[in-house]
Formats: sequence, C-alpha cells, structure tokens
Amino acid sequence: MATTPPTTAETYRCPECRGVLSFDAGSWGCTDCSYVPPHSAD
Ligand SMILES: [Zn+2]
Repeated sequence: MATTPPTTAETYRCPECRGVLSFDAGSWGCTDCSYVPPHSAD
C-alpha cells in the first residue's frame, strides 16, 4: 500500500498537502492548509 491508485470516486485531494478537500461555504477548500483549487473550466 505504498501507492494510491487513481480512483474514479469524486474524492478531492489537496495537491499541496494531500489533505482532503471539503466543500464548505459554496467552495472547495483544504481543511489543513487552506488550499483552494481553481475553478474547473465548464
Ligand atoms: Zn492542503
């Protein structure tokens, strides 16, 4: 279990700290480092 296989599940991971992004106040954000992912292109 050294690597994490790509998943199709809609689990958002923070690219900065590998934390979990949570949807809060209408926006995604990392609960650990406050990283905010850019808006995805529609
Ligand atoms: Zn983070």
